Amino acid sequence: MALIVQKYGGTSVKDTDRIKIVAEHVAQTAENGNDVIVVVSAPAGFTDDLTQRAARISDDPSPREMDMLLSTGEQISIALLAMALQELGHDAISLTGGQMRIFTDHAHTKARIQYIDLDRVKDELGNGRIVIVAGFQGRTQEHEITTLGRGGSDTTAVAIAAALSADLCEIYTDVDGIYTADPRVVKNPSKLSKISYDEMLELASLGAKVLHPRSVEMAKTHDVPLAVRSSYDTQTGGTLVVKTEALEKEYPVTGLACDQNAAEIVIYGVDDRPGIAAMIFNALADENVNVDLIIQSGVQNAKNDIAFTVPQNELKKTRRIINSLKDDVLYERVTFDDKVMKISAVGSGMVTGRGIAATMFRVFYENGVNIDMIGTSEIKISCIIRDEEGRKEKLMQALHDAFGLESIGENEDRKSE
Ligand code: ASP
Ligand code: MG
Repeated sequence: MALIVQKYGGTSVKDTDRIKIVAEHVAQTAENGNDVIVVVSAPAGFTDDLTQRAARISDDPSPREMDMLLSTGEQISIALLAMALQELGHDAISLTGGQMRIFTDHAHTKARIQYIDLDRVKDELGNGRIVIVAGFQGRTQEHEITTLGRGGSDTTAVAIAAALSADLCEIYTDVDGIYTADPRVVKNPSKLSKISYDEMLELASLGAKVLHPRSVEMAKTHDVPLAVRSSYDTQTGGTLVVKTEALEKEYPVTGLACDQNAAEIVIYGVDDRPGIAAMIFNALADENVNVDLIIQSGVQNAKNDIAFTVPQNELKKTRRIINSLKDDVLYERVTFDDKVMKISAVGSGMVTGRGIAATMFRVFYENGVNIDMIGTSEIKISCIIRDEEGRKEKLMQALHDAFGLESIGENEDRKSE
């Protein structure tokens, strides 16, 4: 008998008809002789709607109250799904994150799971029940409700799978796997039958919304077998996320991502002396700002410029922090810009491939695009450019063509068997 964790996203439980379909698939998995734990998201659009409601009341709502609010969506889904399974004659029980004893730190709205106390879930499974858990939420030692950051239900699923050493963690969503680029953006993307944890982590962090980055990180650390599949078509294979060694690296670039949620901050005329960068980035870290690309220019007259990016929804906080450093850091001026986007190419094959950056820059040049910032790692290249109408589609397609991504999908040699 296997232990399977299945996670269903918001579109898969968006209305009662969809919930009944999910219930049937869960029931089938249990009838095949498996122990099943199901993690669900809030109905599609629900968390957004709650967020908007909060925004109509406050432009800086208390993070604790946001968690209190946002955790309600998932509770709707778990209760309805448990009822649907009971209708099908299965013994099922829904649990909130707190009841599932998922303990997190105190970072409201982006809490990290610290550990899961498995007593309750083991009891429930031992009694032959299907356990349905609210994704995206946990609790602190002090019984406060926390949430794990938008899209965090994936992380709940992987954390449970890791804690119980599940045989498989399946993420059911509205797409049937991981593609070389967002199918809504490029016209000929290929579906990957396999992708490495590292590539997936980069793509997820870079704005490919299929999996929550933290879930991939956790799956990698704990070796959780992860599959991304469609809840609309449970027969199709989907994409397996595997170790890099299990892939053939014939293609330097595996996927492209575009993140329109980036904001760029440039601090001009910063004193060039030790400790300045530490001061700036410590102040940001102290308030949990997620800094991404960082660039420092060459020195001129004992001054340099420091530029970096943060998620757009952290721009306000960043602005406050940087302005408050004015007396200590002694910069000349600072600009904040949220009309930028980050386009990235990712692939484990880049380690050995050549000319990848050159190809990328050439595509930008041919399309008349100026690059503001460039960041690289062993397996990715990211560029920050201005976000203008239609640019994303045009550039993503041009890059997809330049890297030949239309032909690396599951029917090609990338299949490693
Ligand atoms: N409902 C939450 C969100 O929309 C969590 C999730 O769907 O994973 O972000
Ligand atoms: Mg979601």
